[in-house]
Amino acid sequence: MFSFSQNKNSRTAAGSPPCVRCGYCCNKTICFIGEDDGVGHCRFLELADDHLMIFSCGKRTEIIESEKNSSIPMFDNYCSSSAFNTVRNEVIRKMKETKNGNIKR
Ligand code: SF4
Ligand code: SF4
Repeated sequence: MFSFSQNKNSRTAAGSPPCVRCGYCCNKTICFIGEDDGVGHCRFLELADDHLMIFSCGKRTEIIESEKNSSIPMFDNYCSSSAFNTVRNEVIRKMKETKNGNIKR
């Protein structure tokens, strides 16, 4: 069975769909640490893999620090926007196709 492997520091919420770094949520809404690039996208969102179309966040360390006292940290953890998310579904399809479930940050 296909499964995602997250990094050793990931904090997975039991039963929640994992974040696969599709970038959908960041392209919909810039978070409190992000900044608009002038055309409505976050300037810290960086393409990390142009085949899988997965992204990295240039503010990852800062966001993890801001969530360190949260009982439900979101970042590196679970997906906030999995319902009807065709972008995320496409990343998962490609991961299955290439047998690459590694979503290490
Ligand atoms: S700072 Fe990171 S998490 Fe926030 S919107 Fe930008 S890319 Fe997304
Ligand atoms: S998988 Fe979910 S939380 Fe992760 S980047 Fe995509 S929409 Fe955002």
